[in-house]
This record gives sequence, structure tokens and C-alpha cells, in this order.
Amino acid sequence: MRVFRAEDRSGAGVPEEEKVASPSFPAKVKKVLSDNALVMLTVTGVVLGVFVGLGVRNVELSRTQVLYFGFPGELLVRLLKMIILPLVVCSLVSGAASIDPRALGRLGGWAMLFFLVTTLLASAIGVLMAYIVQPGSASISAAKGVGGPEGAAPQPREIVDSFLDLIRNIFPSNLVAAAFQSYVTSYKMVNVGRNLTDDLSSNSDLAVEKVPFGTDVDGMNILGLIVFAIVFGVALRKLGEEGEILVKFFNSFNEATMVLVSWIMWYAPVGIMFLVAAKIVEMEDVATLFAGLGKYIACCVIGHVVHGGLVLPLIYFLITRKNPYTFLWGIFTALATAFGTSSSSATLPLMMKCVEERNGVSKHISRFVLPIGATVNMDGAALFQCVAAVFIAQLNDYPLNFIQVLTILVTATASSVGAAGIPAGGVLTLAIILEAIGLPTHDLSLILAVDWMVDRTCTVINVEGDAFGAGILQHFVDLQSGPDKDSSIRFKYQASSPQ
Ligand code: ASP
Repeated sequence: MRVFRAEDRSGAGVPEEEKVASPSFPAKVKKVLSDNALVMLTVTGVVLGVFVGLGVRNVELSRTQVLYFGFPGELLVRLLKMIILPLVVCSLVSGAASIDPRALGRLGGWAMLFFLVTTLLASAIGVLMAYIVQPGSASISAAKGVGGPEGAAPQPREIVDSFLDLIRNIFPSNLVAAAFQSYVTSYKMVNVGRNLTDDLSSNSDLAVEKVPFGTDVDGMNILGLIVFAIVFGVALRKLGEEGEILVKFFNSFNEATMVLVSWIMWYAPVGIMFLVAAKIVEMEDVATLFAGLGKYIACCVIGHVVHGGLVLPLIYFLITRKNPYTFLWGIFTALATAFGTSSSSATLPLMMKCVEERNGVSKHISRFVLPIGATVNMDGAALFQCVAAVFIAQLNDYPLNFIQVLTILVTATASSVGAAGIPAGGVLTLAIILEAIGLPTHDLSLILAVDWMVDRTCTVINVEGDAFGAGILQHFVDLQSGPDKDSSIRFKYQASSPQ
């Protein structure tokens, strides 16, 4: 069987068998350095960011000056966000149009199964950690004192409305608006007139009803765009020759977007350095946060380390028999970006580039699986939501029975699907879990107060799960499409493709 290097999947490499002379030592060192230049620059960026942040922290800076100081980091986030819309739409349309629908269904099915199982595992780790560490039992008064300006609890929604909103967002009524707005249910109290069963003379006979109504809030409806792009791609494929020109258009658009991503990538180390440094400079009262919520933070972060450092790599190793840590090294720049930006969506462009160029995942898989993963697969969010739910139960002296623990596991898995891949996206859907087990939602302010910290490791795990999913699917496809086997997953463009 011909062995291809990673670059071959993107069409630029050379089969191993064609390489003859083995390179000299300095040439090897040079190659290792140049292959890993970006990763090493990113590591340097993170480390420098910590030192610069600690140094600048000693200087008295006004809020405005801190804002200016963080400008290079803000620029990275803006660049990445700019690329999300064309990237997601074009990669999914061209991906769906290029894959045989049966194979597409199978690929999607396996991806969903992997996402579901790993998210459930993450939820279980979260519950387990919360029971072992008991973050809410000792620090009730200290924790209740925490909750600064960031601590305003979000408006809770009824569970049914949360799920209906999810479905509504899957079918956006306006595609253009979906690029920058999502649908969210709000409530108004409506006077519904006299209640005829009451005494007509009294004033208390006015019945008031809490009526849900829809509002459009800022934020891309990425779920709706994903579903539309996939269905549109399948429809294009069905058109045959007639659709060919549009498939080519989306392919070219996609390739051009990826060229932009490769340029942005070289700015990432600088941007990440400033994101980290600016956060360290602007942090206030960390000691108080740790005194009150240290156990909760530790619980989430250790849970994330266990899931991302052991469980996911172990699953990857068991399935592929490849070194998972080499895989993680390959996506380091993307993981650091997730840490710096706290946003799966913003990390998506760099993650695609990393898995394709460094981990040998084909474009067809990465550009189909990663956008879906970045939107629906959130292991880190499910884990921290479970910790938070048990923590709030402990804070309120509310013993949980087995059924309630199961409810937490299932609703955390479901609500992590609904969480947006943006900073603090998971806290907003945490209310669903609290409502499901009858816990008060006002304690969400505590979770929000430290979310800027927990959200970083959470986002790293969210995107790591997507990348491992793509790596495992690539392994399956490689197994099935060996030269002697009848390939059941064929990635041939139906019409001639520019690639
Ligand atoms: N910030 C996370 C992400 O973008 C979502 C969350 O808050 O859980 O993946």
C-alpha cells in the first residue's frame, strides 16, 4: 500500500516510496524546526504572554489603557471571526456536494456517535469530580460573597422553550439574518382578563399569563447555517452537471478562504500572547475568587485535564493505535487559540488548517466534521455544566437522588449541543439543567463570575474533541478505502473538481 505523508492529502506531498536519500543531521534538525515553527512560536507566545502580563500588572493602568494594551489580541479574534461565515458555509456546501450521500450519512452518523459518547463521558467525569471534591459543601458563605460585575445571572428560559429555540434556529426564517442573529424566546406577562371562576367583585380576578415571544439577538445562528449548507450541498449534487458550476464556485471560495487562514495563522502567536497578557493584566481580585470558588474551579479544570489529557487520547489510541500526543502536538496552535479566545467558532479556521496539514486528516473529513463539531460537540461545556449543577445543589443543601444525577448527565449532554461556541456560551444553557432538577437559577451568577477562567480549559477540550473525532473518522476511512477493498466511502467529486 502506498504510504502518504500528511501533506499528500492536500495534494502537495510526495509518496514515501519515492524518497531515496536519507537527509543529513543538520538537514533533519532544520526540517523539524521548520515543520514545528508555528507551534513553537505559539508556545513562546503563550509563555511570553504570561510574563508580559505579570510584568505589566505591576504598572497602574487605567481601563482604557488595558483596552489598548489588548488590541493586538482583539485583532486576532476579529480576523478569526471574519473568516467563520465563508469558511463554514463553503466547506459544508462543497463537502456535502462532493461526498456520496450514503457515505455522507454514514460519516455523519459515526461523527454524531463519537460526539455523543465522548460528551456523555465528559458529563460523567464532571459529576464524579463534583462528588469527590465537594466544591459546594465547605465554602458556602465565601462563595456566596463572590460574584462581581460579571455576576448578573442570565434570564432563565423554560426547558421546552430552550429546545424549541434550538429547533427554530435549525430552520432560520431568514438566511441573511442568520449570519448575525439567532432566535431566543423571551417572556412577557399578559393580562388575560377575568377569571370567570373567581368572585366578580374582587380585583384579584385578573389572570396573568407568562407568554413566550420570539426575539432576535446578536450572534450568528451557526446551527441554521450548517444545516442549510449541508442540505444545499446535497441538493447541488442531485442536480448533476447543472450544479457543477456552483460546486466549483464553493470549492474555490473554500480554498481561497483557507489561504486567508494560513496567513492569519502566522499572526496567531502574537495575538495569543496579547490575549493572555491582557487577561492577566485585567484580572481583579483573583484571591477572593479562589477563596470562595477555588474548589469549583479546581474541579472543572482537573476534570478538563483528565478528559482532554487521558480519556480522549485513550479513545483515540484504542481505535487508531496511533500516538494521541503527537496528534495533540499537531493541533497545539489551535488549542492555544481556543485557550486565548474562549471560542470554538473562532478556533475553527486554525483547527482545520492544523488537522489537515499536520495530522493528515483529509479536507473532505475535516471540512465536514469540524464545523459540525465546533457547533454541537462540547465535551468541556458538558463537563463544567455537570460540576456547576452539583455544586449549586451542594450550595443549597439540596441532596440529589440517582434519577436527578441521570437527569443532569442527559440534560448537560443535550444542552451542550445548544451552547454557542462563543465565550460563556455554556453558562447560558446551564439554566436548562438547573430548571430540569428544580434548582434555583440565581446562583448562576457565581458560575459567571469565574467563567472567564473555566471557559478557557472548557473551550480547549471542546475543540480537542472535534479534532480527535476527525482523526478517528480519517482512520475509518483509511481502513475502508485501501486499494484491495471496495471503498464504501468515496470522496469523488461527482462533477470534475478543481482539486
Ligand atoms: N466558550 C465555549 C466554546 O466556545 C462554550 C462554552 O462556554 O461552554 O466552546
